[in-house]
Parts: sequence; C-alpha cells; structure tokens
Amino acid sequence: MPVTSDIPATVKLFDTHCHLDLPELAVAQALYWQQAQQAGVAALVIPAVQQSAWQNLLALQQQQPQWHIALGIHPWWAAKHSPDAVAVLDQLLTAHNTAIVAVGEIGLDFALAEASFAMQQQLFAAQLLLAKQHNKPVILHHRKSQPQLLAELKRQQFNGGGILHAFSGSQQQAMAFIDLGFKLGIGGTITYERAEKTRKTVQKLPLESFVLETDAPAMPLAGFQGQVNTPAQLALVFDTFCQLRPEPREQVAVTLWQNSLNALRLSAA
Ligand SMILES: [Zn+2]
Repeated sequence: MPVTSDIPATVKLFDTHCHLDLPELAVAQALYWQQAQQAGVAALVIPAVQQSAWQNLLALQQQQPQWHIALGIHPWWAAKHSPDAVAVLDQLLTAHNTAIVAVGEIGLDFALAEASFAMQQQLFAAQLLLAKQHNKPVILHHRKSQPQLLAELKRQQFNGGGILHAFSGSQQQAMAFIDLGFKLGIGGTITYERAEKTRKTVQKLPLESFVLETDAPAMPLAGFQGQVNTPAQLALVFDTFCQLRPEPREQVAVTLWQNSLNALRLSAA
C-alpha cells in the first residue's frame, strides 16, 4: 500500500539517499517512484555503491530529471574494487560533470573486519581527492568512524561539503561536520523512540543543518521492520521530523528542500 501522509500539495520532499537501482527497488522502479511522488517526494538522489552500478546510474539520470546521481564506491565494496576504479571514476567525473551531483557513497565503516581498514582508508582518501579536484560535494557513509572521517576531511582541507548520510549521534558530533559545511542526513532512525540522542540532536540544532533521506531499500521505519523500505516512506520520516521541530510543517518542508539543493549545489528545481 502507498503511504499516505497529511502533506499539503504544495510541499515538496527531497529523498537525498535512496538506492533505487538496487534489485529490491529496481524490480518495480516506476511504481515506487509513482508512490513516492504521491507521497510528496519530488526529487531524490541515487548514490552508487560500486563501480558496476555507474553506467546504469548515468542512464537512469538521463531518463528522469528528478533523479540525481552520485558515483563512488561504498566502503562495503572497498575490498573487492578493481584497481582501475579510481581512474574510471575520474574519467566519468570529467565526461559527465553536470550529470553527477556528488561523489558517493563513500566513507569508512569500522564495524567491518579490521583487515579491511587500510584499504577502506586508502579508497576513501582517493575518492575524496577526486571530489575536491572535480569540485563536487560528497555523500558520506559512517559507522564507528566519525573521528577518522573528520581527520581525513581536515587533512585534505576538503571544503566541498555534502551530506553525512544516516546521521546518528550527539549535537557535539553533529557540529563537527556542520562546521565543515555538511548537512546531516536524517532517516528512519528518528522514528524509533530508542534513538534518543539523535532525536534530541534533531530538536536542538538549527533547521538549516538537516536533509531527509530513506536509504531505501534499507533502514525500515519503526513499525515496518522486515519490509522493503521505499522512497514513499520519506513522508513518514518528514512527519516524525516535524513532530520534533517547533516550526510549522510548511516552513520545515521549504527549508529542508532548500537545504537539499544547497548541499548538492543544485539550482531551484
Ligand atoms: Zn546508502
């Protein structure tokens, strides 16, 4: 069933992180997009997870102007990336510079086996450097790795900003990234009462700090565990977000939309 939410027709939502190309969603891509639009989603970002996804994403971007794409290698795929991957990404960023909004999904995942850390760090550093050279923001994956991400961003003096995807953490952790020009990607985590620290951070920081995301097909919302997450669920993330904020819904929506454009350096869409 499509998700229904009490969203005025004028409100536009931006799903800044949605893996619409992965098999779980690709199987009914047009339907999921239609349902998302009915739920108020007017644009989304599809971040790549591995090199084999890049050409497909470039093709998808051609099909649908509201689908923005990021190319990169996710840390989960770092261990098996091909030796020419960074060079190929460099070429694609040159050839399709306007079609690609960001370098992503890149980052560090220190919940993985320690044997992968050195490779992850090397690949993250190389991709961050490409983002800098091609003047693109980045979409960052983190797990147990916020200090190491910050250290590399500072080491490279990276000032292109972007989105810290799937943010969870304290105000202090959030501020370190905001100070470097990042927005915090807020997803289904806030629908779980137990996510107290993250919910508090959403309440306390300026509205300009945030963008919304589903991370579909992963990260099901509270009450939807075990189901495939879809971009239409962004309406429910938005509902929860609004409950945590003092501003009127309309203002929250307009500001989040603008934050998304700013983070991805898109002009009004
Ligand atoms: Zn992701």
